[in-house]
Amino acid sequence: MGLDGRGPGPEAPIVASLRTLGVNARTAERLARHTSFKIGGPAGAFVEPADEAEVLLAARVAFEQGIPLMVVGLGSNLLVSDRGFDGIVLSLARACRDVRPEGTRLAAGAGVSLAKVAHMAAGLQLSGVEFAVSIPGTVGGAAVMNAGAHGRSAQDVVQRVRVWDPARGVVVLPGEAMQYAYRMSRAQREAWVVLEVWFDLTPAPRAAIGRTMGDYMGHRRATQPVGEKNAGSMFKNPPGDFAARLIEAVGAKGWQEGGARVSTLHANFMANDGTATARDVLILMRRVAAAVQERFHIGLAPEVRWVGPPEGEDGTTWDNLWLPADDA
Ligand SMILES: Cc1cc2nc3c(=O)[nH]c(=O)nc-3n(C[C@H](O)[C@H](O)[C@H](O)COP(=O)(O)OP(=O)(O)OC[C@H]3O[C@@H](n4cnc5c(N)ncnc54)[C@H](O)[C@@H]3O)c2cc1C
Repeated sequence: MGLDGRGPGPEAPIVASLRTLGVNARTAERLARHTSFKIGGPAGAFVEPADEAEVLLAARVAFEQGIPLMVVGLGSNLLVSDRGFDGIVLSLARACRDVRPEGTRLAAGAGVSLAKVAHMAAGLQLSGVEFAVSIPGTVGGAAVMNAGAHGRSAQDVVQRVRVWDPARGVVVLPGEAMQYAYRMSRAQREAWVVLEVWFDLTPAPRAAIGRTMGDYMGHRRATQPVGEKNAGSMFKNPPGDFAARLIEAVGAKGWQEGGARVSTLHANFMANDGTATARDVLILMRRVAAAVQERFHIGLAPEVRWVGPPEGEDGTTWDNLWLPADDA
Protein backbone atom coordinates (compact mmCIF):
# COMPACT_ATOMS: atom_id res chain seq x y z
CA MET A 1 0.00 0.00 0.00
CA GLY A 2 1.11 3.53 -0.74
CA LEU A 3 1.21 6.21 1.92
CA ASP A 4 -2.13 7.35 0.62
CA GLY A 5 -3.47 3.82 1.07
CA ARG A 6 -4.09 3.35 -2.67
CA GLY A 7 -1.92 0.45 -3.69
CA PRO A 8 1.83 0.18 -4.37
CA GLY A 9 3.46 3.51 -3.67
CA PRO A 10 6.86 5.19 -3.42
CA GLU A 11 7.82 3.13 -0.39
CA ALA A 12 7.97 -0.13 -2.31
CA PRO A 13 11.57 0.43 -3.58
CA ILE A 14 12.76 1.06 -0.02
CA VAL A 15 11.35 -2.21 1.17
CA ALA A 16 12.70 -4.02 -1.90
CA SER A 17 16.24 -2.62 -1.35
CA LEU A 18 16.21 -3.69 2.26
CA ARG A 19 14.91 -7.16 1.48
CA THR A 20 17.58 -7.67 -1.21
CA LEU A 21 20.17 -7.12 1.52
CA GLY A 22 18.47 -9.57 3.82
CA VAL A 23 16.90 -6.95 6.09
CA ASN A 24 13.35 -7.84 6.92
CA ALA A 25 11.19 -4.77 6.29
CA ARG A 26 7.44 -4.34 6.52
CA THR A 27 5.44 -1.95 4.44
CA ALA A 28 2.32 0.05 5.42
CA GLU A 29 2.97 -0.54 9.13
CA ARG A 30 0.84 2.03 10.95
CA LEU A 31 2.96 4.03 13.36
CA ALA A 32 -0.05 4.49 15.65
CA ARG A 33 0.82 0.96 16.80
CA HIS A 34 4.26 2.15 17.89
CA THR A 35 3.41 5.35 19.77
CA SER A 36 1.91 5.89 23.21
CA PHE A 37 -0.44 8.49 21.64
CA LYS A 38 -1.79 5.76 19.31
CA ILE A 39 -1.71 8.30 16.47
CA GLY A 40 0.18 8.14 13.18
CA GLY A 41 -0.03 6.92 9.60
CA PRO A 42 2.14 4.32 7.88
CA ALA A 43 5.92 4.05 7.63
CA GLY A 44 7.46 3.73 4.18
CA ALA A 45 9.36 0.78 5.64
CA PHE A 46 9.25 -0.51 9.19
CA VAL A 47 12.34 -2.45 10.22
CA GLU A 48 12.80 -4.33 13.48
CA PRO A 49 16.20 -5.99 13.09
CA ALA A 50 17.04 -9.16 14.96
CA ASP A 51 20.58 -8.03 15.78
CA GLU A 52 22.94 -5.08 15.67
CA ALA A 53 24.52 -6.07 12.35
CA GLU A 54 21.10 -5.74 10.73
CA VAL A 55 20.53 -2.39 12.46
CA LEU A 56 23.74 -1.08 10.93
CA LEU A 57 22.85 -2.47 7.53
CA ALA A 58 19.46 -0.74 7.55
CA ALA A 59 21.02 2.54 8.70
CA ARG A 60 23.67 2.37 5.97
CA VAL A 61 21.07 1.63 3.27
CA ALA A 62 19.09 4.66 4.39
CA PHE A 63 22.17 6.90 4.37
CA GLU A 64 23.61 5.67 1.06
CA GLN A 65 20.27 5.90 -0.75
CA GLY A 66 19.28 9.22 0.80
CA ILE A 67 16.19 7.73 2.45
CA PRO A 68 14.96 9.53 5.60
CA LEU A 69 15.60 7.41 8.70
CA MET A 70 14.11 7.65 12.13
CA VAL A 71 14.64 5.43 15.12
CA VAL A 72 11.62 4.70 17.27
CA GLY A 73 11.94 3.65 20.90
CA LEU A 74 8.69 3.20 22.81
CA GLY A 75 7.25 6.11 20.82
CA SER A 76 6.35 7.87 24.07
CA ASN A 77 7.49 11.31 22.98
CA LEU A 78 6.24 11.34 19.41
CA LEU A 79 3.43 12.95 17.46
CA VAL A 80 3.32 11.17 14.10
CA SER A 81 1.55 12.68 11.11
CA ASP A 82 -1.67 11.09 9.90
CA ARG A 83 0.19 10.80 6.58
CA GLY A 84 2.90 8.77 8.24
CA PHE A 85 6.64 8.88 7.60
CA ASP A 86 7.95 8.38 4.07
CA GLY A 87 11.21 6.71 5.00
CA ILE A 88 12.64 3.91 7.13
CA VAL A 89 11.46 3.59 10.73
CA LEU A 90 13.92 1.54 12.72
CA SER A 91 12.96 -0.16 15.97
CA LEU A 92 15.72 -1.50 18.22
CA ALA A 93 13.27 -3.42 20.39
CA ARG A 94 14.70 -6.80 19.39
CA ALA A 95 18.31 -5.96 18.53
CA CYS A 96 19.70 -3.83 21.37
CA ARG A 97 18.42 -5.63 24.44
CA ASP A 98 21.46 -6.49 26.59
CA VAL A 99 22.08 -5.05 30.04
CA ARG A 100 25.32 -5.85 31.86
CA PRO A 101 27.03 -4.50 34.98
CA GLU A 102 30.61 -3.24 34.70
CA GLY A 103 31.67 -2.44 38.26
CA THR A 104 29.47 0.43 39.37
CA ARG A 105 28.37 1.09 35.79
CA LEU A 106 25.51 -0.44 33.91
CA ALA A 107 25.77 -0.84 30.13
CA ALA A 108 22.36 -1.06 28.50
CA GLY A 109 21.24 -1.58 24.92
CA ALA A 110 19.27 1.28 23.40
CA GLY A 111 16.14 -0.85 23.03
CA VAL A 112 15.88 -1.72 26.75
CA SER A 113 13.15 -0.01 28.76
CA LEU A 114 14.14 2.53 31.41
CA ALA A 115 12.05 0.67 33.97
CA LYS A 116 14.12 -2.47 33.40
CA VAL A 117 17.38 -0.53 33.84
CA ALA A 118 16.09 1.07 37.05
CA HIS A 119 14.99 -2.28 38.50
CA MET A 120 18.23 -4.01 37.50
CA ALA A 121 20.27 -1.22 39.07
CA ALA A 122 18.22 -1.57 42.27
CA GLY A 123 18.86 -5.33 42.27
CA LEU A 124 22.60 -4.65 42.00
CA GLN A 125 22.36 -2.09 44.84
CA LEU A 126 23.34 0.72 42.49
CA SER A 127 21.74 4.15 42.85
CA GLY A 128 21.37 6.89 40.20
CA VAL A 129 18.61 5.86 37.82
CA GLU A 130 15.70 5.75 40.29
CA PHE A 131 14.26 8.85 38.56
CA ALA A 132 13.86 6.85 35.37
CA VAL A 133 11.72 4.06 36.82
CA SER A 134 8.42 5.51 35.66
CA ILE A 135 9.48 7.32 32.49
CA PRO A 136 7.90 5.21 29.75
CA GLY A 137 10.76 5.09 27.28
CA THR A 138 13.81 3.19 26.12
CA VAL A 139 17.45 3.78 27.00
CA GLY A 140 18.03 5.17 23.49
CA GLY A 141 15.05 7.53 23.69
CA ALA A 142 16.12 8.76 27.13
CA ALA A 143 19.70 9.39 26.00
CA VAL A 144 18.48 11.35 22.98
CA MET A 145 15.75 13.32 24.79
CA ASN A 146 17.76 13.84 28.00
CA ALA A 147 14.70 12.45 29.73
CA GLY A 148 14.34 13.38 33.35
CA ALA A 149 12.14 13.60 36.41
CA HIS A 150 12.41 14.48 40.10
CA GLY A 151 15.30 16.90 39.50
CA ARG A 152 17.53 14.46 37.62
CA SER A 153 17.93 13.58 33.98
CA ALA A 154 19.95 11.41 31.63
CA GLN A 155 22.80 13.92 31.56
CA ASP A 156 23.52 13.22 35.26
CA VAL A 157 24.18 9.54 34.67
CA VAL A 158 25.14 8.95 31.02
CA GLN A 159 28.88 8.25 31.17
CA ARG A 160 29.34 7.24 27.52
CA VAL A 161 27.35 6.19 24.49
CA ARG A 162 27.99 3.91 21.54
CA VAL A 163 26.42 5.38 18.42
CA TRP A 164 26.35 4.79 14.68
CA ASP A 165 27.34 7.95 12.88
CA PRO A 166 26.97 8.05 9.06
CA ALA A 167 30.44 9.57 8.59
CA ARG A 168 32.38 7.52 11.13
CA GLY A 169 30.50 4.25 11.59
CA VAL A 170 30.19 2.91 15.14
CA VAL A 171 31.96 5.10 17.70
CA VAL A 172 32.04 5.28 21.50
CA LEU A 173 31.67 8.84 22.76
CA PRO A 174 31.93 10.31 26.26
CA GLY A 175 28.69 11.59 27.79
CA GLU A 176 29.88 15.18 27.27
CA ALA A 177 29.77 14.62 23.50
CA MET A 178 25.97 14.54 23.81
CA GLN A 179 26.07 18.29 24.66
CA TYR A 180 23.11 17.93 26.96
CA ALA A 181 20.67 20.71 27.75
CA TYR A 182 17.08 20.63 29.01
CA ARG A 183 15.32 17.85 27.00
CA MET A 184 17.96 18.35 24.31
CA SER A 185 21.05 16.54 23.09
CA ARG A 186 23.37 16.64 20.14
CA ALA A 187 21.80 13.36 18.98
CA GLN A 188 18.64 15.33 18.10
CA ARG A 189 20.66 17.33 15.58
CA GLU A 190 22.79 14.51 14.18
CA ALA A 191 21.73 11.46 12.18
CA TRP A 192 22.96 9.17 14.96
CA VAL A 193 21.59 5.81 15.92
CA VAL A 194 22.25 5.29 19.62
CA LEU A 195 23.13 1.64 20.17
CA GLU A 196 24.26 1.41 23.80
CA VAL A 197 24.53 3.62 26.87
CA TRP A 198 26.71 3.36 30.00
CA PHE A 199 25.18 4.70 33.22
CA ASP A 200 27.49 5.85 36.04
CA LEU A 201 25.96 4.71 39.34
CA THR A 202 26.80 4.71 43.05
CA PRO A 203 26.51 1.82 45.53
CA ALA A 204 23.54 2.24 47.91
CA PRO A 205 21.31 -0.02 50.03
CA ARG A 206 18.66 -1.77 48.01
CA ALA A 207 15.87 -0.88 50.44
CA ALA A 208 16.55 2.84 50.12
CA ILE A 209 16.62 2.64 46.32
CA GLY A 210 13.35 0.66 46.35
CA ARG A 211 11.66 3.21 48.63
CA THR A 212 12.65 6.08 46.37
CA MET A 213 11.40 4.27 43.27
CA GLY A 214 8.13 3.44 45.02
CA ASP A 215 7.64 7.11 45.95
CA TYR A 216 8.31 8.19 42.37
CA MET A 217 5.85 5.68 40.92
CA GLY A 218 3.18 6.71 43.43
CA HIS A 219 3.69 10.38 42.61
CA ARG A 220 3.22 9.67 38.91
CA ARG A 221 0.03 7.70 39.43
CA ALA A 222 -1.38 10.58 41.46
CA THR A 223 -0.45 13.40 39.08
CA GLN A 224 -0.59 12.01 35.53
CA PRO A 225 -3.39 10.48 33.46
CA VAL A 226 -2.03 6.94 33.61
CA GLY A 227 -4.03 4.67 31.33
CA GLU A 228 -4.90 7.38 28.79
CA LYS A 229 -3.29 7.50 25.35
CA ASN A 230 -0.84 10.40 25.56
CA ALA A 231 2.73 11.46 24.82
CA GLY A 232 3.72 12.90 28.20
CA SER A 233 4.44 16.61 28.41
CA MET A 234 3.49 18.35 25.17
CA PHE A 235 5.48 21.53 25.85
CA LYS A 236 8.83 22.20 27.50
CA ASN A 237 8.81 24.22 30.70
CA PRO A 238 9.86 27.80 29.89
CA PRO A 239 12.78 29.10 31.99
CA GLY A 240 11.70 29.60 35.61
CA ASP A 241 8.13 28.46 35.06
CA PHE A 242 5.98 25.42 34.32
CA ALA A 243 4.10 24.86 31.09
CA ALA A 244 1.34 23.09 33.04
CA ARG A 245 0.85 26.13 35.31
CA LEU A 246 0.57 28.49 32.35
CA ILE A 247 -1.82 26.20 30.45
CA GLU A 248 -4.00 25.75 33.51
CA ALA A 249 -4.01 29.51 34.13
CA VAL A 250 -5.49 30.22 30.68
CA GLY A 251 -8.29 27.78 31.50
CA ALA A 252 -7.28 25.24 28.87
CA LYS A 253 -7.82 22.10 30.96
CA GLY A 254 -10.50 20.09 29.20
CA TRP A 255 -10.24 21.97 25.89
CA GLN A 256 -11.04 19.59 23.08
CA GLU A 257 -10.40 19.32 19.37
CA GLY A 258 -11.84 16.28 17.66
CA GLY A 259 -10.64 13.31 19.66
CA ALA A 260 -7.85 15.21 21.46
CA ARG A 261 -8.33 16.83 24.84
CA VAL A 262 -6.15 18.79 27.26
CA SER A 263 -5.94 16.52 30.31
CA THR A 264 -7.98 17.63 33.29
CA LEU A 265 -5.45 15.98 35.61
CA HIS A 266 -2.22 17.43 34.16
CA ALA A 267 -2.61 20.49 31.94
CA ASN A 268 0.59 19.81 29.94
CA PHE A 269 -0.72 16.42 28.85
CA MET A 270 -3.13 15.82 25.98
CA ALA A 271 -5.17 12.65 25.74
CA ASN A 272 -6.40 10.80 22.68
CA ASP A 273 -9.89 9.39 23.24
CA GLY A 274 -9.14 6.77 20.61
CA THR A 275 -10.34 8.80 17.62
CA ALA A 276 -7.83 11.68 17.66
CA THR A 277 -5.78 12.49 14.58
CA ALA A 278 -2.43 14.27 14.48
CA ARG A 279 -4.32 17.19 12.99
CA ASP A 280 -6.58 17.39 16.06
CA VAL A 281 -3.54 17.45 18.33
CA LEU A 282 -1.75 20.08 16.26
CA ILE A 283 -4.77 22.39 16.27
CA LEU A 284 -5.17 21.96 20.02
CA MET A 285 -1.46 22.60 20.66
CA ARG A 286 -1.67 25.72 18.56
CA ARG A 287 -4.72 26.95 20.43
CA VAL A 288 -3.10 26.36 23.82
CA ALA A 289 0.21 27.96 22.78
CA ALA A 290 -1.62 30.99 21.36
CA ALA A 291 -3.62 31.47 24.58
CA VAL A 292 -0.45 31.31 26.70
CA GLN A 293 1.30 33.73 24.34
CA GLU A 294 -1.57 36.19 24.48
CA ARG A 295 -1.95 36.17 28.25
CA PHE A 296 1.66 35.76 29.42
CA HIS A 297 3.71 36.73 26.34
CA ILE A 298 5.58 33.45 26.68
CA GLY A 299 6.11 31.24 23.63
CA LEU A 300 5.72 27.58 24.52
CA ALA A 301 8.09 25.25 22.66
CA PRO A 302 7.02 21.68 21.96
CA GLU A 303 8.66 18.87 23.94
CA VAL A 304 6.93 16.19 21.89
CA ARG A 305 8.72 15.49 18.60
CA TRP A 306 6.92 15.79 15.27
CA VAL A 307 7.38 12.96 12.76
CA GLY A 308 6.11 13.50 9.25
CA PRO A 309 6.00 16.12 6.51
CA PRO A 310 7.19 19.49 7.82
CA GLU A 311 4.04 21.34 6.84
CA GLY A 312 1.90 19.68 9.53
CA GLU A 313 -1.71 18.65 9.08
CA ASP A 314 -3.50 21.97 9.41
CA GLY A 315 -1.46 23.76 6.75
CA THR A 316 0.90 25.40 9.22
CA THR A 317 4.48 24.30 9.63
CA TRP A 318 5.69 22.73 12.86
CA ASP A 319 7.94 25.76 13.34
CA ASN A 320 5.39 28.53 12.88
CA LEU A 321 2.79 26.59 14.84
CA TRP A 322 4.10 28.35 17.93
CA LEU A 323 3.38 31.88 16.78
CA PRO A 324 0.13 33.48 17.89
CA ALA A 325 -2.59 32.32 15.49
CA ASP A 326 -3.06 35.79 13.96
CA ASP A 327 0.63 36.13 13.00
CA ALA A 328 1.16 32.63 11.63
C1 LIG B 1 2.83 9.06 30.39
C2 LIG B 1 4.16 9.66 29.98
C3 LIG B 1 4.98 10.24 30.92
C4 LIG B 1 6.20 10.80 30.55
N1 LIG B 1 6.99 11.35 31.52
C5 LIG B 1 8.20 11.86 31.20
C6 LIG B 1 9.06 12.41 32.20
O1 LIG B 1 8.76 12.40 33.39
N2 LIG B 1 10.24 12.92 31.80
C7 LIG B 1 10.64 12.93 30.50
O2 LIG B 1 11.74 13.41 30.21
N3 LIG B 1 9.84 12.42 29.53
C8 LIG B 1 8.65 11.88 29.84
N4 LIG B 1 7.84 11.36 28.86
C9 LIG B 1 8.29 11.41 27.46
C10 LIG B 1 9.08 10.18 27.02
O3 LIG B 1 8.78 9.07 27.85
C11 LIG B 1 10.58 10.41 27.04
O4 LIG B 1 10.95 11.47 26.17
C12 LIG B 1 11.36 9.16 26.64
O5 LIG B 1 12.73 9.35 26.88
C13 LIG B 1 11.15 8.79 25.17
O6 LIG B 1 11.72 7.51 24.98
P1 LIG B 1 11.24 6.58 23.78
O7 LIG B 1 12.10 5.38 23.79
O8 LIG B 1 9.77 6.35 23.86
O9 LIG B 1 11.60 7.48 22.54
P2 LIG B 1 10.67 7.88 21.26
O10 LIG B 1 9.51 8.63 21.75
O11 LIG B 1 10.42 6.62 20.50
O12 LIG B 1 11.69 8.78 20.50
C14 LIG B 1 12.02 10.07 21.00
C15 LIG B 1 13.13 10.66 20.11
O13 LIG B 1 14.33 9.91 20.30
C16 LIG B 1 14.77 9.35 19.07
N5 LIG B 1 15.34 8.03 19.39
C17 LIG B 1 14.80 7.06 20.16
N6 LIG B 1 15.66 6.04 20.27
C18 LIG B 1 16.75 6.36 19.56
C19 LIG B 1 17.98 5.70 19.28
N7 LIG B 1 18.28 4.50 19.79
N8 LIG B 1 18.89 6.32 18.48
C20 LIG B 1 18.61 7.55 17.95
N9 LIG B 1 17.47 8.23 18.18
C21 LIG B 1 16.55 7.63 18.98
C22 LIG B 1 13.55 9.27 18.19
O14 LIG B 1 13.89 9.27 16.82
C23 LIG B 1 12.82 10.54 18.61
O15 LIG B 1 13.37 11.66 17.98
C24 LIG B 1 6.62 10.79 29.21
C25 LIG B 1 5.80 10.18 28.24
C26 LIG B 1 4.57 9.62 28.61
C27 LIG B 1 3.72 8.96 27.57
